[in-house]
Amino acid sequence: MSVAQAVSEGIIEKLKGKRPKKIDIKMEVGKLRFHNTDQVEFWLNEILRKEFGDQLSVKADIKVIEPTIKCSCGYNGSVEDVHTDEEGSHHGIYEMKCPKCGSDEYELASGNECNIISVNVTE
Ligand SMILES: [Zn+2]
Repeated sequence: MSVAQAVSEGIIEKLKGKRPKKIDIKMEVGKLRFHNTDQVEFWLNEILRKEFGDQLSVKADIKVIEPTIKCSCGYNGSVEDVHTDEEGSHHGIYEMKCPKCGSDEYELASGNECNIISVNVTE
């Protein structure tokens, strides 16, 4: 729910005092933040309807960004061994290691994004 909350806050700020009918959100979210896009859209609807009223429908176009790392051994790229626990969705636990040296002391280069690309509002 945290991704939806963060995004909603920005949108509420922007549209204060308005009564939008439709909001189309284009966003990119790092895979480490979540992996259930339906849930994000559901929560966006919940949160934003509370603010703007039940006439509103929210559509989210979410691009998921795969995690990549920068390791001290020189490796720079995607992590192969990414998996989550069976609980899935919002509190998945990731275990990631550098595929070259096996270290888990690396810098995360991507995978933790939460960017709003564009917001289209129909009033
Ligand atoms: Zn490494």
